[in-house]
Amino acid sequence: MIINLISDTVTKPTPEMLEVMMSAKVGDDVFNADPTVNELQEKVAKMFNKEAALFFPSGTMANQAAIKLHTQPGDRMFCDKWAHVYNYEGGGAAFNSGVTSHLIDGDRGMFTANQLKEAVSGRADIHVPFNRLVCIENTTNKGGGACWNFEELKKIQEVTQHNNLAYHLDGARLFNALVAKQETTQQYGDLFDTISICLSKGLGAPVGSVLVGSKQDMNKALRVRKLFGGGMRQAGYLAAAGMYALENQVNRLEEDHKKAKEIGEVLASCSYVKKVEPIETNIVIFYVDDSIDPMEFIKKMEEKDILLISMGQGKIRIVTHLDYTQPMHEKLLEELRSFL
Ligand SMILES: *Cc1c(COP(=O)(O)O)cnc(C)c1O
Repeated sequence: MIINLISDTVTKPTPEMLEVMMSAKVGDDVFNADPTVNELQEKVAKMFNKEAALFFPSGTMANQAAIKLHTQPGDRMFCDKWAHVYNYEGGGAAFNSGVTSHLIDGDRGMFTANQLKEAVSGRADIHVPFNRLVCIENTTNKGGGACWNFEELKKIQEVTQHNNLAYHLDGARLFNALVAKQETTQQYGDLFDTISICLSKGLGAPVGSVLVGSKQDMNKALRVRKLFGGGMRQAGYLAAAGMYALENQVNRLEEDHKKAKEIGEVLASCSYVKKVEPIETNIVIFYVDDSIDPMEFIKKMEEKDILLISMGQGKIRIVTHLDYTQPMHEKLLEELRSFL
């Protein structure tokens, strides 16, 4: 039994999901002729109270398309220093859009409206890039699955409106936040210009992300997706999996959160653990004592068929998910308790 806690992307479709995929009605989506892709897009647009949505092969491409459609080369975007759009998308904001990134020094991947206000203020003359876009990430990945305070997001929206900035949400794990904080997709749709969501993380689909926004923005995104090489043909098989995930695998995220909290409690009681970051959703980040090399710890766990990942700066990450079963959970807790 291999216990893979590297990411919530390691899940495989359930038999029920495979069944709906196999029986999906498909067509050529580049000609807008795949009924299942269209159904998924309409469903997601409606969920977020937005005019339109667009299916993407990855979250990275959905975010990068959003950055592209909101900016011109030389413009500046604002995000947290830990943001996925800056750290883990291959430098795409610079490569694809020629955009300068202003990094805000937030807490666990989250900054405040005041910090943004300060970042956007200052001279606006020929020396300075045009301020164009703010990117938020909820939940925060490198921040250990932390959830933003919705009131702060509203205050940030006021700053974006006052300064004429677009407002994008990298919602790869937004559903984890919604379940944890009992918030709604509509609330988020009303706040942001564009939102990307991942169907292939905690929701358990094999492939796919969706970008939502206005009709005008999604028309631009359609063109950008084509030029990024993301136009897919009979993608309805994948969209069917996404639809199944949205209908059946959202509420169960609570179980992942519960298991993550239990792992955190055990870790906190282990003498070799220096610190456990607060656990709000399905990500656990912890640090082992200085006497233990984190990479060595990860290797020793691997020898016990338990796969974890390093996030740099001594951070070790555990992510719970759909394929992490109760027997695996019990074995992991046992191994953590008896390590050393
Ligand atoms: C996983 C992730 C993405 C997108 O990743 P893909 O692997 O390209 O689907 C974007 N943002 C965050 C915060 C993520 O965790």
